[in-house]
Amino acid sequence: MTRSLTILGATGSIGRSTADVVLAHQDEFRVEAVVGGRNALALAEVARRLGAKFAALAEEGENEALAQALSGTGIESGAGQTAVFEAVERDADVVLAAISGTAGLAPTHAALKPGRRIALANKESLVCAGNAFMADARRLGVTIMPVDSEHNALDHALAAGLNRDVEKAVITASGGPFRTWSRERIAKANAREASAHPVWSMGSKINIDSATLMNKGLELIEAHHLFGLEAERLDVLVHPEAVVHGLVQWKDGAVTAGLALPDMKVPIANALRNEGRLKMDLPRLDLASIGRLSFDRPDEGRFPCLSLAIAALRAGGALPTILNAANEIAVEAYMADMIEFYDISDIVESVCSTFSGRRIPAPATVVEALAIDQEARKTARRLLPGHAKAARL
Ligand code: NAD
Ligand code: MG
Repeated sequence: MTRSLTILGATGSIGRSTADVVLAHQDEFRVEAVVGGRNALALAEVARRLGAKFAALAEEGENEALAQALSGTGIESGAGQTAVFEAVERDADVVLAAISGTAGLAPTHAALKPGRRIALANKESLVCAGNAFMADARRLGVTIMPVDSEHNALDHALAAGLNRDVEKAVITASGGPFRTWSRERIAKANAREASAHPVWSMGSKINIDSATLMNKGLELIEAHHLFGLEAERLDVLVHPEAVVHGLVQWKDGAVTAGLALPDMKVPIANALRNEGRLKMDLPRLDLASIGRLSFDRPDEGRFPCLSLAIAALRAGGALPTILNAANEIAVEAYMADMIEFYDISDIVESVCSTFSGRRIPAPATVVEALAIDQEARKTARRLLPGHAKAARL
């Protein structure tokens, strides 16, 4: 039986890999809608490839361009927030949520409909509003399947036992492009160097988050919400081969791990599956040819963003929301070459400490989360001029 699917963030890295998975299984999926950010031509192309019924672009000004690019195809289209939410509202059994950043929260949250399956790539939704998001998903009977490779692996591993018997759940980090660099060298690295990820090919924001290891911090917070594990039972290991994605250590000392070659099509196929697995024609993991897998502890001295995220997870309340917002502003400024690498962690730390005394409780609704997010962004933006490269000259 075919299932209908809507893809949020269809023109991005995860969106394109999802299109590949779907095209290899056309008997299983029918694409209802695709959503993109700004690029009308790229969205029209993916809509055509997938034979989607509806294409929605967030950028309102591109309405004409999108309609023109789709003319004669019979694919309906629209642009602006109303169109994005129309795409989310249309009937679909599965929604793959892969908009980047906190911009994905409202559409992903609106996609929570009774009986639906959400294949969740947009980790920022959970970091910003995890309690509210998961409570609504539970209330509405929505299945959330993680697309993030580490969480997808943990989801499998955790199925081998009971949550209360988990001593520790570990996610791995490839270590990013600066794994072997000295702090002095990292300090001078530009966004192009930070984007040269050794293992994964990803969107621009997650690339920088991987270089700072903030990505791993956000993933710990994501794991906390997905699996109901507190900070003390979550850990990170650096694993450059990126073959073991997640491990669960049980109270009897046994360990269950999730392994796969690093290709996002594997967890995507897994998150989309119904009963059984989708056959994927991808290279198979050949441990003998890899020969050796290595593991190390993360160096929080060179990668302070990881410690900041762990501190926010431990402190709880609204701090993860605040950390996430400050990080997005700082990463944008770094990508625009306005600030240096360690200004990202400095700004995140300053914003978190500005708010920590207020002990704001964890947002109970998405609206509350977005209000806190906006306030933290304002604070981060106010700090930017003090860190600007120009101000240092
Ligand atoms: P990307 O930048 O390549 O793609 C983002 C997509 O979102 C694009 O289609 C873009 O047009 C769309 N978009 C951006 N702003 C939008 C808006 N306001 N409204 C509607 N659409 C908008 O990012 P990506 O690497 O595909 O990552 C997407 C999400 O998946 C992120 O949350 C990331 O953390 C997560 N993720 C990515 C990977 C990976 O390997 N790329 C792995 C795990 C998790
Ligand atoms: Mg990941």
